[in-house]
Amino acid sequence: MLFNSLLSENSLATGSRFIIDGAVSQLSTSYCKITLNKRGADEYTKISFPLKYGIFSEIETSDAILQFNLNHEIVRAKGKGRDWIQPSEWLKRSMGNDWIYYSTGGYTGVFEAIGEYYLPNLPYPTNSLIGGKPFNEPVINKIISSWQEIIFKSLDSIKTYNTELLADKEKFINFLESALANNSENLQKKAEHLFETSGGRITVMPPDARHVDYDIIPLIISDGCLYKCKFCRVKSDKPFAVRSDIEISRQIEKLKDIYGSDTVNYNSIFLGDHDALNSDKETIISSAKAAYSSFEFEKSYIKGCNLFMFGSVDSLMSCDFELFKTLNGLPYKTYINIGLESADQETLDLIGKPLTSSMVEEAFMEIQRLNALLNNIEITANFIMDENLPKGHYPSFLRLVREKIDKTKTKGSVYLSPLRINKPSREVLFEFNRLKTLSRVPTFLYIIQRL
Ligand code: SF4
Repeated sequence: MLFNSLLSENSLATGSRFIIDGAVSQLSTSYCKITLNKRGADEYTKISFPLKYGIFSEIETSDAILQFNLNHEIVRAKGKGRDWIQPSEWLKRSMGNDWIYYSTGGYTGVFEAIGEYYLPNLPYPTNSLIGGKPFNEPVINKIISSWQEIIFKSLDSIKTYNTELLADKEKFINFLESALANNSENLQKKAEHLFETSGGRITVMPPDARHVDYDIIPLIISDGCLYKCKFCRVKSDKPFAVRSDIEISRQIEKLKDIYGSDTVNYNSIFLGDHDALNSDKETIISSAKAAYSSFEFEKSYIKGCNLFMFGSVDSLMSCDFELFKTLNGLPYKTYINIGLESADQETLDLIGKPLTSSMVEEAFMEIQRLNALLNNIEITANFIMDENLPKGHYPSFLRLVREKIDKTKTKGSVYLSPLRINKPSREVLFEFNRLKTLSRVPTFLYIIQRL
């Protein structure tokens, strides 16, 4: 057995709420190597190398690597055997308790398509045009079903080792026992508690949350949306309503409890749900400020902090500029995603979106104006894609993203969202690539992902 206690990174403890016993420590047995409080990347970066973010603990055996957050809940896993699909690919478990497989895509244009080097393959039906079927692979299902056994064997290997010299072997045992207690059933219960706290599952996260690998804390400040569009699969039945200050504060307290010690690995908030921008200015600002102080984002291990929300044409166009000015002055980089869907009237009518094409065009131009004015805010937009839309849809899209914009921009992404679920289509992908090439704003595919 080899034992190391690496205290060199204790300097992180200064002024930080999370380092109680936060030194990096390592212990090896003939079965496993355990590293506590390993330091991953502290800044979200777009890089082809598979970075792991935050502070986490790890169990490595000859067959697998498991990683755990600071609540000792499993968050990532990968196999090490020859049968593992690709050495740089891995599984991530979300706070909603979904296992997501990150692949290089099996498609050379993953970065061009989604703006990220790794493609999240989701275990539920979604609108992705690319990716394979990793959940059909036995090796993936084996690790999803056997990680608890690996923890159990690791615990056994430490307990049975004669380690009189190891005064602090206890902390490795405590970690493993705690990780074992966070079994599949308890993780599912915790996810359900999160959904209850939010008032329902987050059925869709903003596409911009890709910038933080969808590691967001959801704070729901309003429910429902204005339009209840016919085509939309994620809408709720609730009429639009803003939540009270008391409801929002109670939610924050529950979220602090749910995210617990691992809050330090978060630097981003999602103000939900479908049209938080339609909430009154005071609620948006006070919620953003309360989240910043309650989750102590200034002490996050991850640099910077971000705020994500959805908006609509009406909420954008009726917004008091003071709101944008105030948001722009907060410590957050704010991303607001507006559902435009189409600038073609026939398409809007077909999908049951109660807007006119001129309202969509005005909103698009307002987005351009605001993006040029506000350095700390990026407003992005969604449009739909499908093989069977009216013939005016794509030309109207290009009129906005090409003809109405005089030069190429790096800010103000547009996301194209395929309408069909579980129907990868070469034709639609070909069309996406054509539109992307012609667009003068960054253009990506929007894969609908829940929390
Ligand atoms: S697309 Fe947006 S506005 Fe329309 S129903 Fe869905 S959530 Fe509501």
